[in-house]
Amino acid sequence: MADIWSDVTAQISQVTGQAFRGKQTRSVGGGCINQAYGLSDGQMTFFVKLNQASKLAMFEAELAGLQEIHSSQTIRVPLPVCTGLSGANSYIVMEWLDFGGRGHAWAAMGRDLAAMHRTSSDLGFGWHRANTIGETHQPNDWQESWYAFWRDQRLGYQFRLAKRRGGSFPQQQALMDALPELLSEHDPMPSLVHGDLWSGNASITTVGEPVIFDPATYYGDREVDLAMTELFGSFPTDFYSAYEAAYPLSEGYATRKILYNLYHILNHFNLFGGGYESQANRMIQQLLVKVR
Ligand code: ADP
Repeated sequence: MADIWSDVTAQISQVTGQAFRGKQTRSVGGGCINQAYGLSDGQMTFFVKLNQASKLAMFEAELAGLQEIHSSQTIRVPLPVCTGLSGANSYIVMEWLDFGGRGHAWAAMGRDLAAMHRTSSDLGFGWHRANTIGETHQPNDWQESWYAFWRDQRLGYQFRLAKRRGGSFPQQQALMDALPELLSEHDPMPSLVHGDLWSGNASITTVGEPVIFDPATYYGDREVDLAMTELFGSFPTDFYSAYEAAYPLSEGYATRKILYNLYHILNHFNLFGGGYESQANRMIQQLLVKVR
């Protein structure tokens, strides 16, 4: 490990232009995928995630996602610093933030997320690079139509992986055939989205700033973020009322929420197997009831 920290501190010094001789201060729990650490010299502190060298592209995509959201000047993310390789490891470095704040920041989170969702792309739905969702590859090839994007780059891709994993989704074709109807009369603009906005990827700093982190960024229907906030537990109600006041949701969201969260449940089946297969089948059933 010692070599890693000297490589990381040398690169931080190079990128920030300030001599940094930080030491690993603490190991941070709570992440799903990577080992996470704080690195500090008593003045500056950075948050560092480590993984195998083969995961460098994952960290590069995360860094690019943080940069994209930071550039929108709408919602706070940890400032990205650098990524790199050290021996058998890859790493990402970003600003350290002290989480654990309370108060009225969830309303601000809703307003800030709505502002981020007003950031659009002329290129349509997608992003300039692939990234990952969990540890699964997430393609983001640009599409003009949201329906085509959701069909090919999201559900279709995960269904293919799930088939290879031995998953059985008897109503898959019926769902794919119903997609035009499920998304008809819905013509969202391409919004900058976080892409993986479950409650573990949003927090409040001790000075009361709402922050989102660990993104799987692309330009898509903003409702994907709202839907995911309700998938594994919900955000506080202040968040939803402030979001809705700033940027009201369109009719039919309740059904699309199931369609958008199906993507994450399929991904969970691909990552973890088990009961996610039957959960996905129940969601498909719920969606098909809506079109019959
Ligand atoms: P993983 O990619 O492994 O899922 P996360 O990016 O979610 O890891 O980070 C793991 C945990 O570290 C988070 O739950 C959060 O508590 C903490 N954390 C994330 N980003 C920062 C940061 N910039 N500064 C301090 N702590 C952070």
